[in-house]
Amino acid sequence: MKGNKKKNILIKSGRVIDPQHGKEFVSDIYIKDGIISKVGENISIKEDDDIVKINAENCIVSPGFVDMHVHLRDPGFEDEETIETGALAAVKGGITTVACMPNTRPVIDSQSLVKYVLEKSLESACTVLPVAAMTAGLEGKHITEMGLLAETGAIGFSDDGNSVNDSRLMYEIMRYSTQFDLLLILHEEDSLMSGEGLIHEGYFSTILGLEGISSLSDDLMIARDITLARRSGARIHITHLSTKGGVEMVRKAKEEGVRITCDITPHHLFFNDSSLTSFNTNFKVKPPIRSEEDRLALIEGIKEGVIDAIASDHAPHLDTEKNTTFKLASFGTISLETLFGASFSKLYIEEKISLPKLISLITISPARILGIDAGKIEVGKVANITVIDTEKEEEIKRENIVSKSKNSVFIGQKLKGKVICTISKGKLVYRSE
Ligand SMILES: [Zn+2]
Ligand SMILES: [Zn+2]
Repeated sequence: MKGNKKKNILIKSGRVIDPQHGKEFVSDIYIKDGIISKVGENISIKEDDDIVKINAENCIVSPGFVDMHVHLRDPGFEDEETIETGALAAVKGGITTVACMPNTRPVIDSQSLVKYVLEKSLESACTVLPVAAMTAGLEGKHITEMGLLAETGAIGFSDDGNSVNDSRLMYEIMRYSTQFDLLLILHEEDSLMSGEGLIHEGYFSTILGLEGISSLSDDLMIARDITLARRSGARIHITHLSTKGGVEMVRKAKEEGVRITCDITPHHLFFNDSSLTSFNTNFKVKPPIRSEEDRLALIEGIKEGVIDAIASDHAPHLDTEKNTTFKLASFGTISLETLFGASFSKLYIEEKISLPKLISLITISPARILGIDAGKIEVGKVANITVIDTEKEEEIKRENIVSKSKNSVFIGQKLKGKVICTISKGKLVYRSE
């Protein structure tokens, strides 16, 4: 990110993915002064000392990824992550736009905090968009000034980490949100039902002797919020959907015309609860990694188009918060740097889901939900582009993690599809060795 001059970039012979139109084609891309100036075959540029050439033969060239659920811990928990370090981890993962959640200290529930994130975003390697709280201090008691916050630049609203337990208040939030057509991003958890639970309630919670979190905890809240959205006309997005029941309810709600979308995380589509037998606390996440039946339902949901996006729910935690007993460990895994590799390994290699379809889940589709102009490669637009070597396989190692926190559930996994360079805001911000 040093210096202001943007070097011109020529990407040669890549397989360009156009998720917007479901197409792929081999092409060169020329980026001049940070703007995509040509897309076509055999682009030749007069010798220019200052040009960066990227040989993308046998690579895919994708619009920069859009991750709509990320925790950057800034302000307040900067020893775990900052907007700056989170953005560096994002671009290593090929992500050029992130939406960051408001559970910081102080909580992003005021105009000044929204501005704080937007200002930091200007200096960051990728674009960082603030999601503001639905209720003041995330306390579930009073609605924030959502209209004003949206005007200031909040991209959506969420009390992520909690559901709003008070149904009457949630209904009011939804009705209020419709006046401005705001996006509500919902963490669905009936906290009385999930209680002190640590992992998915089922066979493995029983044999491991760990308290379970029933699927009902998610499903009850999803059912409630769909009911409220149907009545209020609110635009809701269910984030980190994890249950088979949830997929079924979202499918039905979509058929009925409820304004609903949803995302899943890479760890919920990659693992099932048998992974918990390792007692590795990085697997302690919320919602919990669920059964194989649930995992397969999520994949089916992607194939059918019920699931709109994959989002990381990148949740950095210090070693001290994870290197403890399973009961005391914090919930969450980091996930920015492995978002593509995990999704590609499972969905393309294993499940044979097409590349344009897979790429749409991490580009154009979340961009549409957020209502932003991103996730496409278009002449005349600022370049946000990711180049991936789909043949390369990499073992995820702690020492290679860029994020300030190292709590990755993917450490030790071999993932296919390595990001070899990322162009964000028109600049080459990441290139692998
Ligand atoms: Zn959450
Ligand atoms: Zn989250």
